[in-house]
Amino acid sequence: MIKYEKGVSAFKSIESDPAILDEIAALKEELKDDLVILGHHYQRNDVIRFADVTGDSLILSQKAVEMKKKHIVFCGVYFMAECADILSDDDQKVYIPDMRAGCAMANMANIKDVEMIWEHLTSGTKEKIIPVTYINSSADIKYFVGKNDGIICTSSNASRIFDWAMERGSKILFLPDQFLGINTAISKGIPESAIFTLDRLPDEKAIEVSQVFLWNGYCSVHKRFTLDDVTKRRNEYPGIKIVVHGECTADVVKASDAFGSTSTIIKMITESEKGSAWAVGTEQHLVQRLTDRFPDKTIVPLAESGFQCVTMSMITPEKLLNTLKEIKEDITEHEVRVATEIKHYAKTALIRMLAL
Ligand code: SF4
Repeated sequence: MIKYEKGVSAFKSIESDPAILDEIAALKEELKDDLVILGHHYQRNDVIRFADVTGDSLILSQKAVEMKKKHIVFCGVYFMAECADILSDDDQKVYIPDMRAGCAMANMANIKDVEMIWEHLTSGTKEKIIPVTYINSSADIKYFVGKNDGIICTSSNASRIFDWAMERGSKILFLPDQFLGINTAISKGIPESAIFTLDRLPDEKAIEVSQVFLWNGYCSVHKRFTLDDVTKRRNEYPGIKIVVHGECTADVVKASDAFGSTSTIIKMITESEKGSAWAVGTEQHLVQRLTDRFPDKTIVPLAESGFQCVTMSMITPEKLLNTLKEIKEDITEHEVRVATEIKHYAKTALIRMLAL
């Protein structure tokens, strides 16, 4: 029988001043008829405990719209709050407790560079190129794909969205995560020789032979997992299953047993047998919560430390409290508003995805 050590993770979520937590609870109760708080899986424990709904970015936005509450507080990163605003009704307002909490990956694709590359690609071929953006992108990029007959994908549906795009064109421009792009393309059987990473401009020949063009972005958390981490965990825990997020590098994904979105990872572990053992390659707050939630399974992080999303962690109880106080006083300092013209095409791209 394999013997597993417990308590491998050295990571513990920070706990805040109890007085602040009490104040949030009281204010949340007072505002409850008009308020929904959303918490992304990567939020720290003392923030996510106040979330009415937890999940990944798209599910959170959809739930918030369905719940019809006037004030939506998004404990996540900026593009997620933009996404909620794009989908929400006109009488709903979306807030983020720290306006600087952006996603490093989303910030790697700016609209001017994307339009310049698009012009280069489309003028270099007569074939139809379909732009696809991962939901982890700014509202501008969502607008761009919506306007150019493209679509949005999540890490759960990227494979299906590739099929959709290939039915409408013969090439894909995938933004902004090169690793979700390459992992999905490889899983669809697209040869690596037909995948071009846009760390330089492709020449005419490269445009002709490539089927998928990948923006050169990445997640600063998931990119850090290495093949050595996989090997180390397999040696330490013979028989362990390794599941990683689709934003990890292609080497790590290939060496793992499974890859997918945060929801896929949670589902896989939830449905696994008692006594099973997992090494999980994703943000450490989520891994720690899984470890705590399933004491009858061995769940360890794929690597020891430093796998925290710095910008997700910018949302603190103090800032959440401040936002709730602003809502009560009708102050809109932390309201996220996407311009109407951007919203229109961004929503078009989102609706194309939701219709599938
Ligand atoms: S974990 Fe990565 S993709 Fe997710 S918000 Fe942080 S930087 Fe962005």
